[in-house]
Amino acid sequence: MNTIEIDRAATAVAAPPRVATHHQDNGAILNAMTIDVEDYFQVSAFDHIVPRARWESFESRVCRNTETLLEVFAGANVHGTFFVLGWVADRFPNLVRQIRAGGHEIASHGYEHRLVYSLSASQFRDDLRRARLALESAAGAPVVGYRAPSFSITHQSLWALDVLIEEGYAYDASIYPIRHDRYGIPDWERHIHRVDRAAGSIWELPGSTTKLAGTNFPIGGGGYFRLLPYAWTKRGIARLNEGERQPSVFYLHPWEIDPGQPRLEQVGGLARLRHYGNLGKTQERLGRLVRDFRFGTVSDVLAGVTAPSASAVVA
Ligand SMILES: [Zn+2]
Repeated sequence: MNTIEIDRAATAVAAPPRVATHHQDNGAILNAMTIDVEDYFQVSAFDHIVPRARWESFESRVCRNTETLLEVFAGANVHGTFFVLGWVADRFPNLVRQIRAGGHEIASHGYEHRLVYSLSASQFRDDLRRARLALESAAGAPVVGYRAPSFSITHQSLWALDVLIEEGYAYDASIYPIRHDRYGIPDWERHIHRVDRAAGSIWELPGSTTKLAGTNFPIGGGGYFRLLPYAWTKRGIARLNEGERQPSVFYLHPWEIDPGQPRLEQVGGLARLRHYGNLGKTQERLGRLVRDFRFGTVSDVLAGVTAPSASAVVA
């Protein structure tokens, strides 16, 4: 249950007017634009070298980078869903309000960026509630969406969907139907769908994939967008939209457009490539992406997903 009162009347007045995108519809599918709002030192790959107790000691760049993303989206008339870390919302409540003022949707990325499969159900619930309190206090609006740090709802943490349903969440975007060293459920449903659980049901927005020779490959954003040629993402989304008539769910982090971020010296090998590769190219690529496809918030996309095409999955 919510532990704070949301002033819904005030929220209705404060909500910015929605502006139609400049894109001609032409039957083109609306894709979900999502941003995981966290700082460059909070990523899961740096967990072992950056203890949470030291987070306060780093130069924070999340506000400036998020503001740059807001400018890119404003210039293209794109609205998205921002999964904000509760820790960030507590320190920078004004950033949450700026995001809202841009016509975007606020959702939860948890509080402390802990991998869901490393938590017990009650620890997960505590983190979820703490984040929601911070986000709703800052936004003055209800939060009904969640994405786990590093897509950490996997086979071993599917119980988290029950907790999300019990806590009143309408949608989750934490499952990636691919093989990866830290996350993924390779045989999970690839398209947006309802998941039926013991606790009830919830919308799931899986990370986007393209299926080639029976294997799912990621096309959904983040490192895949930065490190692979732009054509990979463009072709993948086009295939999903035009071939399968399905929306994609694109994701990015504010630090991915920040080539000036301080380098953490202890980061080596694969983590170094994944985190620092092509940071200087990503903003321009994002500009191309929002011109090439239609994007909206998760709620906008769910409003367009019709019941017959949505499959229920018993997990
Ligand atoms: Zn994250």
